[in-house]
Amino acid sequence: MGPGPSDVEPRVLAAMSRPTIGHLDPLFISLMDEIKTMLQYAFQTKNTLTIPLSAPGSAGMECCFANLIETGDHIIICQNGVFGGRMKENVERCGGVAIMVQSTWGRAIDANQLEESLKVNPQAKIVAFVHAETSTGVLSDAKTLVALAKSYDCLTIVDAVTSLGGSKLYVDAWGIDAVYAGTQKCLSCTPGLSPVSFSEAAQQKIKHRKTKVQSWFLDLNLIMAYWGSENKRAYHHTAPVNSLYALHEALLILQKESLEKAWARHAHHHHALRSGLEAMGLNFVVPEGERLAQLNAVCIPKGVDDNALRQALLQDYSLEIGAGLESMAAKVWRIGLMGYACRQENVLKCLAALEDVFSRMNAPIDRGVALSAAHKVYSQPRMSNHDL
Ligand SMILES: *Cc1c(COP(=O)(O)O)cnc(C)c1O
Repeated sequence: MGPGPSDVEPRVLAAMSRPTIGHLDPLFISLMDEIKTMLQYAFQTKNTLTIPLSAPGSAGMECCFANLIETGDHIIICQNGVFGGRMKENVERCGGVAIMVQSTWGRAIDANQLEESLKVNPQAKIVAFVHAETSTGVLSDAKTLVALAKSYDCLTIVDAVTSLGGSKLYVDAWGIDAVYAGTQKCLSCTPGLSPVSFSEAAQQKIKHRKTKVQSWFLDLNLIMAYWGSENKRAYHHTAPVNSLYALHEALLILQKESLEKAWARHAHHHHALRSGLEAMGLNFVVPEGERLAQLNAVCIPKGVDDNALRQALLQDYSLEIGAGLESMAAKVWRIGLMGYACRQENVLKCLAALEDVFSRMNAPIDRGVALSAAHKVYSQPRMSNHDL
């Protein structure tokens, strides 16, 4: 129950152990086509350029910036956590100029601040931000931010590594131009792949670049020779065949559950976990309305040793929760409810384990109330999708 990798569906692990076939085998090519179609569903897009990259989420980030930026381009980055900082690194390494819009860590990105920046930086061509900041547990309003960027003729790059499969995300309806995700968070798949999707406008920009993409491996013009829709597929790199079996299986499971139900499941278990944590007296870092269901950042109670508590959870309960990052280190815990890990038994186990370890540490928490608070949520009907 950390910030990823999340628990992998047993069916996904089983799929991964099937015999490895050639990455140009006709059977494998049809599997690739199915993956593309199912990724379009997961992203809610008709974008033809919707594929999994053969590398983790960070490569998806790098791919978006490397393909869309040319030397001297100005990019506005809205930062409210660790991953926004990595976007800046990427922009600068691609020869671009990063214009930073800083929001408070633990708060959603402020659309007014973005608009101010768009007004004074008419040379900006792209707006980039993280939809679900895993470092702080914040969900930003991607729909509003993308609409704003578009009204200033900017393309958008959205990090959906933690949101895909866990939070509402409509790539086409919201008009996102480039989006990247990861397999190891809410998709319940193994780490190491990065689904990406590019709009027609983004594809046009990539096709008409004046200079070559500086990364050979992530150059979409080359990758499309392998993943493209035409019948002939050319070798670019050896595809991670078994990882793609895993992704195929994970996407089948997602499709069967349905995106809407997956989003509702994350919200439901988040409510139960939150009720239990708050009953104990723990405080969330993020204000209500901006919280991620799949990543619960809570303040460490006074007098509790961060490392000792996480070690006890791991040793006594085989339960992993995440530590705080950078400015939030030793101040918060990050409790993940991602994908297959997002289940009632995990919520109850986590609350019971926390209560036990807190008690042994004489932590100032309320005892004997967390589980009943969570059970109270479970005894009520699930929220409908309208409440998400
Ligand atoms: C996990 C994560 C990444 C990086 O993904 P990796 O698979 O670890 O490379 C990027 N952005 C966000 C928001 C993440 O949570």
